[in-house]
Amino acid sequence: MSVIGYDVGNLSCYIAVARQGGIETIANEFSDRNTPSIVSLTSKERSIGTSAKTQIISNYKNTISNFKRLIGRPFDDPFVQKQINSLPYLLVKTSSGGVGVQVMYGGEQTEFSMEQIYGMLLTKLRTITEDNLKKPVQDCVLSVPSFYSDVQRRSLLAASRVASLNCLRLFNDTTAVALAYGIYKQDLPAPEEKSRIVIFVDIGHSSMQVAAVAFNKGKLKVLATTFDPYLGGRDFDLVLAKYFADIFKEKYKIDVQKNKRAELRLMMECEKLKKQLSSNSGKMALNIECLMDDKDVQGSMNRYEFEELCNSLLQRVDIPLQKILQDTKLQSQDFYSVEIVGGTTRIPAVRSRINKILGMEASTTLNADEAVARGCALQCAMLSPTFKVRDFTVLECCPYSISLSWKAPLNEEGKHYRDMEIFPRNHQAPFSKMLSFYRKEEFALNARYTNPDQINYPHSDIGNFCISNVIPNKDGEASKVKVKVRINIHGLFSVTQASIIEKLEEPPAVINGEEPMETQEQDKPADPEQPPMETEPTNTEKTNESSEPAAANTDNKENTNSVDLQISDNEEKKNCDEKTEKKKKVKVKSKDLPFESQLHMQINEAELQRMFELENKMIMNDKLEYETSEAKNLVEEYVYDMRGKLYDKYDGYITEEDRDRFVAVLEQTENWLYEEGENEKKQVYVDKLAGLKQSGDPVFRRYTEAAARPAAFEQLGSAL
Ligand code: ATP
Ligand code: MG
Repeated sequence: MSVIGYDVGNLSCYIAVARQGGIETIANEFSDRNTPSIVSLTSKERSIGTSAKTQIISNYKNTISNFKRLIGRPFDDPFVQKQINSLPYLLVKTSSGGVGVQVMYGGEQTEFSMEQIYGMLLTKLRTITEDNLKKPVQDCVLSVPSFYSDVQRRSLLAASRVASLNCLRLFNDTTAVALAYGIYKQDLPAPEEKSRIVIFVDIGHSSMQVAAVAFNKGKLKVLATTFDPYLGGRDFDLVLAKYFADIFKEKYKIDVQKNKRAELRLMMECEKLKKQLSSNSGKMALNIECLMDDKDVQGSMNRYEFEELCNSLLQRVDIPLQKILQDTKLQSQDFYSVEIVGGTTRIPAVRSRINKILGMEASTTLNADEAVARGCALQCAMLSPTFKVRDFTVLECCPYSISLSWKAPLNEEGKHYRDMEIFPRNHQAPFSKMLSFYRKEEFALNARYTNPDQINYPHSDIGNFCISNVIPNKDGEASKVKVKVRINIHGLFSVTQASIIEKLEEPPAVINGEEPMETQEQDKPADPEQPPMETEPTNTEKTNESSEPAAANTDNKENTNSVDLQISDNEEKKNCDEKTEKKKKVKVKSKDLPFESQLHMQINEAELQRMFELENKMIMNDKLEYETSEAKNLVEEYVYDMRGKLYDKYDGYITEEDRDRFVAVLEQTENWLYEEGENEKKQVYVDKLAGLKQSGDPVFRRYTEAAARPAAFEQLGSAL
């Protein structure tokens, strides 16, 4: 089984493979390690990656790029609505309320969801990997921005299924970088020593992410993450493009914003200019021939002007950096180093702001482009049962706090609903918590992000979970119902288990020191000293989740100052049993209850299956198109090759009369290839070539026999 990490960036993707000797990044069919995140649809086939780049301008309506900020978002999201005018392709609403595109594909107007477009890109990455490794690929780890919400994460998982990939983990970009940094370090502090704190900053094409990570030997723990999902290299390009568009309006009387092709060309040139200004401070030129209305345009900018123009973007770099200091209460003397990755950290002004805010010169020892993919491949190796890697525990943290609410009797404040924060921001993940409720009948829990204004997403809803088959206990009173909630390995929230506790003997008022949930519901808010929940280390119940293979890291020693967190499933059970035995002598029986999860903007299974089947159909179609064009090329090559040789090395091996006739057929074929034979089926080209070879092969045979004759005579002579 192959072990693969994919970094799917907004601009480009990198693929890393774990081999016994270490991690390697691999190149695509153009020998490039960087595969552009672009999908282009044409009347016949799809071009994805490098080959799609050439279509950005010529086929702009059907060429989809910059989709990382769109996937998993509702179409009605104000952010999406704002993009409609600036993107060259048409956005539409999908059946699940998400974002899709309308394109011309196969000669028809077709709609694809963002999950499908992302899936197409993943199919391409899988094919590149398979061509490289010469074997099928299935298991992988995919990079994900740390700020993605549940819906966005589920969209990525859907896309990986569309592409026939089994995503073992959605791995946060900055955690992947931290793993790539830490796993090879020989000098990390021992587990009992003070952790080494490193700050990772990734500023790519679409977003900025920061993470504070604590390292000890064999372990990394993400302490906090901060971000700006709307600050990346693309935003600098947009500012430059707007600036030059205004100048060109004045100077050349052209309105670039009214011409998509011109706008796209200007954006490309601005990106080049921006990169040049990273290594040159003097004036750099921007020249574009025939930009619009047959007009050549010229402009220029120096680094100082660039920094002035982009000042408001540059100022935004400070915010996530300041926030990480606030969140972690760390100061620069607490950091061992600051590691930066992502293309936009190459802008000198960005780098100097990082240095200034974090109070330390940022280090660039990591490969800025490949570190995320490498970290993903390492994580995949750690999760794959087929691969042996050194033990290294990865403890992630939640980007947003999550709350649950449920219906309860009217309280003094006149409220029917109770609300409780279950996972605070920066809580360790993956993680499970057990909640206890006292109920006589089925009940529902609503999960949502606690602070809507912090989530960079228009809806704070995560989902509703309805627990059924709840009945009163044998005394007719409320039964104790335990509900396990979890943030899983992908960073997704869910209810994973519900069970009813049946008492076999008379219970005491309080079981195992737990306050029943209702006590809190009726009067005061939850007492932080005695929360009505049991916590468990996450990785101990992997067997319940097929998506989390048994090889996932476990670290039961984590948080030794918290009794609940450090015990494993078995230890906990023993612990509880002992307590029960000593203190209460109560026997209980637990019975699983059915529950239904209704997740916000869930793509249903039938729809996912439809996307999967369509993707496979398109893969077959692309394959056939490729083979057809190969078959056509072979005919064309044969025509040119044979025509040349008939007057050269085959001269004398065919009569002049036959040659004239054959050359006429070759010429006819050439014309046919450019006219009525231009768009034929594969078999037609195969038959055409076979027909030509019927005339050409005898000539070729006579020639090779003659060429071999002197050597044969020589052999015969020496034998005699
Ligand atoms: P994201 O992580 O946001 O999804 P990505 O991973 O595709 O995007 P990167 O490859 O890290 O993004 O960075 C690409 C961005 O970095 C582009 O905007 C590019 O213009 C910019 N960039 C690359 N090199 C330089 C440079 N030398 N100077 C300035 N910007 C640069
Ligand atoms: Mg990136």
